[in-house]
Amino acid sequence: MIIAVDFDGTIVEHKYPQIGKPIPFAIETLIQLQKERHLLILWTVREGELLQNAIDFCASKGLVFYAHNANYPEGDEEDAPRKLKAEMFIDDRNLGGLPDWGVIYNAIQATVNGADSFNAIMSANALDNGRKVKKGFFSSVFGK
Ligand SMILES: [Mg+2]
Repeated sequence: MIIAVDFDGTIVEHKYPQIGKPIPFAIETLIQLQKERHLLILWTVREGELLQNAIDFCASKGLVFYAHNANYPEGDEEDAPRKLKAEMFIDDRNLGGLPDWGVIYNAIQATVNGADSFNAIMSANALDNGRKVKKGFFSSVFGK
């Protein structure tokens, strides 16, 4: 899967333009996802030197992205598309905020294994993380 990953507030605590402390298990999870052949794109508002600082920081921890703010490695920021061709985005500005990285990992696994709805993905997490999704919650809200 092609996964776009934000930097500030997602991989590290939000201290832009500085680099915050790593968010627990973010880098470890992303490296594991690469081992499982997912393709990771760094997708950040950072440009120029600030972007390079983020790239270098991640590289120093063993995390090297396939591309930065572009669909392909040779793409440069000037040619960045309006929207990446990613299949999934991990961003602290997601609806509901950034889940724990364990939850993110399980959600990706569930997606790879065929879960095709938010409810199915979060149910997989409820089993694995003790983060309970109240049974019937979605149906009671959405009437399905
Ligand atoms: Mg962010």
